[in-house]
Amino acid sequence: MNDLKGSSQIGQRFQEIIADLMSYFGYLKGIGIEGFPFPEGRFKNTVSNSSPLPSKNITLDEIRKELGECRRCKLHRTRNTIVFGEGNKRAKLMIIGEGPGYEEDVQGKPFVGRAGQLLTKILQSIHLQREEVYITNIIKCRPPQNRNPEPDEIQSCHPFLQKQIHAIQPKVICALGTFAAQTLLKTNAKITALRGRFQEINGIKVIPTFHPAYLLRNPERKREVWEDMKQIFEWIQEDQKIDQPDGSDR
Ligand code: URA
Repeated sequence: MNDLKGSSQIGQRFQEIIADLMSYFGYLKGIGIEGFPFPEGRFKNTVSNSSPLPSKNITLDEIRKELGECRRCKLHRTRNTIVFGEGNKRAKLMIIGEGPGYEEDVQGKPFVGRAGQLLTKILQSIHLQREEVYITNIIKCRPPQNRNPEPDEIQSCHPFLQKQIHAIQPKVICALGTFAAQTLLKTNAKITALRGRFQEINGIKVIPTFHPAYLLRNPERKREVWEDMKQIFEWIQEDQKIDQPDGSDR
């Protein structure tokens, strides 16, 4: 009898492990990872980590409509508001964070809490106002107690993020923190290794840097973020010269 009970528990645990693995593989596939092993060296220097682009031009309003009152993952049960993103629809710089926190969930806007205030200052340090850039997150709903986003949640949101990028066509994306950097660049490398180095997805430069919430806890890392922001500033200046040699705006 005990043997039977034990083997049914093992069977149940086994099924749970399989379900977890299936969910994880689904997530990897969703962000474009098709095979193993996954050597870090593959992502060194400038590489093109392209995913197929959505085929037709779709506007941010249409993407928001398609997202609707999303129930694609479990976060819909605990969120108050979907935080889609906001800013300049033709921004040269797109900022991608991790996911909404308490304030963002209440207000429905990205980066409006303490980390957001710091982000505003970081942008001002390179002479950019929030309204000039487009700000969004890897996931659009707040995880309970601000826990890390889970693979299935990232996977559910990823097609919408890709469409947002495609609609805006920024020149540069700044990925804030581990989850944004790893998801966009399809890598499991650490943020300390990724930050400050441009990579490319679908012809768009991506530069990861530390998340402002991390900076609030580790202010001694602000200098590195400043270095990364300077690189973004220089790239935008350079790109502007190529785009508009007469000095007029985009
Ligand atoms: N942290 C994030 O990653 N995104 C927000 O919108 C707010 C805090």
